[in-house]
Amino acid sequence: MMAPEALNLGFELHVLAEAEDVSAARSVPDAPVGDYKDLDTLRHFAKGLDVVTFDHEHVPNEHLSTLISEGVNIQPRPEALIHAQDKLVMRQAIEQLGLPNPRWAKVKNVAELIAFGDEIGWPIVLKTPRGGYDGKGVRILDDAQAARDAADWFANGALLAEDKVNFSRELSALVARTPSGQAKAWPVVHTIQVDGVCDEVIAPAQDIDPAVAEAAAAAALRIAEQFGVTGVMAAELFETPGSGAGFVINELAMRPHNTGHWTMNGSVTSQFEQHLRAVLDLPLGETRELGLTVMKNYLGGENQDLYSAFSAALGAAPEVKVHAYGKSVRPGRKIGHVNVVANTGQTVDELRQRAEMVAALIRDGVKQNA
Ligand code: ADP
Repeated sequence: MMAPEALNLGFELHVLAEAEDVSAARSVPDAPVGDYKDLDTLRHFAKGLDVVTFDHEHVPNEHLSTLISEGVNIQPRPEALIHAQDKLVMRQAIEQLGLPNPRWAKVKNVAELIAFGDEIGWPIVLKTPRGGYDGKGVRILDDAQAARDAADWFANGALLAEDKVNFSRELSALVARTPSGQAKAWPVVHTIQVDGVCDEVIAPAQDIDPAVAEAAAAAALRIAEQFGVTGVMAAELFETPGSGAGFVINELAMRPHNTGHWTMNGSVTSQFEQHLRAVLDLPLGETRELGLTVMKNYLGGENQDLYSAFSAALGAAPEVKVHAYGKSVRPGRKIGHVNVVANTGQTVDELRQRAEMVAALIRDGVKQNA
């Protein structure tokens, strides 16, 4: 999704792809296939490029440091990226900044985990510090027995234990920052998760306490500045009305993020354009919303031939913008999203219905005789 923005700005975008048929590879003319964990592959790829950036956080940090020492311009740098890769490092750093964390502990074994649960009260949440996504690597523990049942999770080392936050909704504060230090925030959005996967985003978050929205955006900007983040960063938050700052920070992502896909149609500057501007140290674009926006993901379902329903889907709601990733369909895989921006005073519920209708047509196909 960075490719059209790069083309539009006249930048040459190269992609190091995992395989020839991944959608990122098909979106640019130059996409060598290689392993992002192999230093020589990275070296070869980076040769002659103005800047190297990411759309995931899994390139080994030691390789990034080596490339930097060899003169490659990597954005964001590994010292910043570590906070999006390791949730224990992130919790510690957020605590040092005095920003709102849930109660948490680094636990090395079941005994420490049970002690933490007994201290703060069950249920608690157990997380693997690294490698989790879409709720994989997150487990809710109701009692000491559940903690004992999670013993095998300690095989790879210490884990993060957290208070199970009693939140009213999940929010995301999206910001971008350049190496020179210019930073901008988009409006704070409401994110709706289903089975640990982002399903819908409402931008801006409706009926949010303006002081909480402001404090959440300020926290994300402060994190970006203090951690030296460059490019786009999303701070995922839990809204906790009436307690503390009114929110706590859940986790960070340092790249264009699913909770920012609404900006492709709903903001003056999309997160993908902003990421390119930011990593190239160019002035950032305006982040104002163009109107109330709903983003709805569609995941792979029964329908294998997505385009069979395109005529019906595009015809059903011409104001809804479809973004199809060109990925093969697997059940539960994110394969596209739709955005709809209010321009004639529609309510959130009306927008959500329009978005869901189009997403469902593509996901499920048009039923015979339906
Ligand atoms: P991932 O890295 O897989 O996205 P997250 O840390 O965001 O994992 O957790 C996935 C989901 O689990 C969150 O979106 C939230 O719904 C729930 N969750 C995570 N941490 C907590 C917590 N401390 N309290 C309550 N719910 C939580």
